[in-house]
Amino acid sequence: MTRLSGKNCIITGAAGGIGLETSILFAQNGANVLMSDVNKEALDKALTTVKNLAKDAKVETFVCDVSKEDQVEAMIKAVDSWGGLDVIFNNAGIMHAEDADAVDTPERIWDLTHNINVKGVWYGCKHAVLSFRRHSKKKASVINTASVVALVGSATPQLAYTASKGAVLALTRELGIVHAREGFRFNSLCPAPLNTPLLQDWLGDDKEKRYRREVHFPTGRFGEAIEQAQMVVFLASDDSSFVNAQEMIVDGGMTRAYVTPE
Ligand code: NAD
Repeated sequence: MTRLSGKNCIITGAAGGIGLETSILFAQNGANVLMSDVNKEALDKALTTVKNLAKDAKVETFVCDVSKEDQVEAMIKAVDSWGGLDVIFNNAGIMHAEDADAVDTPERIWDLTHNINVKGVWYGCKHAVLSFRRHSKKKASVINTASVVALVGSATPQLAYTASKGAVLALTRELGIVHAREGFRFNSLCPAPLNTPLLQDWLGDDKEKRYRREVHFPTGRFGEAIEQAQMVVFLASDDSSFVNAQEMIVDGGMTRAYVTPE
């Protein structure tokens, strides 16, 4: 598989569900991959997994907190010696357990969520553009992770998270237009709830809580992280050369359903 041959790619949140699956697919598709995460221990473990599954690929790690601009700048400059960045997947994000509705969300949770989910994506986009220009790139791709909650309201609220993902959609769309003539594409990924440890551990054996969510899927199941990663490979590759400023919804039809099959 060579869809990403020769492309220098950075993935943030690379130690987690979507980021790790994307790192594996990128490496297997011939990309040079810089896996980045704030959690060094998890990142080291993720690197071993990727190296085992893509033995010949160039894969390195960089510890970075995306809410700190100097760290994001250093992360992107780390691939200068590779020939400069071609693709960045700004994927790191959090959904905090104390996030709630308009009344109960603590301000510090709002700020923390927005510092990582929104400012982190902005810094990633800003330093990617500076890098693309520094290396005179004529085409480049930026993919930012939003969520279906940026598109549809949820009766189980996480207001800070929802607002942050709405911001990701809006800023990505605008950047896609601003930089179109430079050849820099910006698209966002909107995943539905996934079968990742994060969500599944939280749902546990609580059948009612699980049903409350599963019933909204026409397919009758949650998505898998690798199903998101497949879309990211497409958006990163030249196969999507005319796809720009879009919201790519990977949700098994969830946001299109009125009533789902029995
Ligand atoms: P995850 O928690 O498994 O992975 C997120 C990764 O981001 C973790 O490895 C974590 O260490 C890292 N991270 C957290 N804060 C960071 C920071 N400040 N700087 C750098 N890295 C940081 O979650 P996931 O399910 O893989 O989620 C990835 C993205 O997808 C997130 O933006 C999330 O909001 C979004 N998303 C997830 C789902 C889902 O159901 N899992 C649904 C919609 C959207």
